[in-house]
Amino acid sequence: MVTKQEKALLALTRLYRYYGKRKRLVAQQHELWKVVIATILSARTRDETTAVVWPSLTDLARAKPREVMKVIRPIGFYRQKARYVLEVARLIAEQGVPQTRDQLMKLPGVGRKTANIILSAMGKPAIAVDTHVHKIANRLGLADTRKPVETETQLMKLLPKRYWNKINYIFVIHGKTLCKRKPRCDVCPLHDICDFAS
Ligand code: SF4
Repeated sequence: MVTKQEKALLALTRLYRYYGKRKRLVAQQHELWKVVIATILSARTRDETTAVVWPSLTDLARAKPREVMKVIRPIGFYRQKARYVLEVARLIAEQGVPQTRDQLMKLPGVGRKTANIILSAMGKPAIAVDTHVHKIANRLGLADTRKPVETETQLMKLLPKRYWNKINYIFVIHGKTLCKRKPRCDVCPLHDICDFAS
């Protein structure tokens, strides 16, 4: 019988092995603004990540709202996001990228999950709980929660900090590949440790 913590570590190890040890890249400091903008653009969409087409932060900060809207039109909520993106680009151009969750969450369009995704991309300890992380943590039995923020708290208690920013990346891949709405437990490398499958 494995403990919850052993199960969580086993799940991470097996998933990284199963999906080919894809290495998560930590963003370079000078590219962090792209991470912030891409994360805001991707919020509430099904898109993986949204490419940031502006060559520099200054270009984006000086862009007109209608130019930004034209570029991001295929994305959901594009009018609202264009406003956020321009405000954020101008703030970052003046003050730099905020370095803490509280500071990040003061940016327009940045909630807790988005802030955690940005912190993870910076290589800082944070668990970004989206629908995939919430679903898989509960299916595995690592969490017993209704809300993503509760899942984040339970996972933070369960795992040492050095693992926090590894969870979102690999659980999202797993959630899109095998642990979908109708999960493929028959071929999943976690089936013997998963509460849902047993
Ligand atoms: S065994 Fe099934 S429910 Fe559990 S993690 Fe794998 S695919 Fe998801």
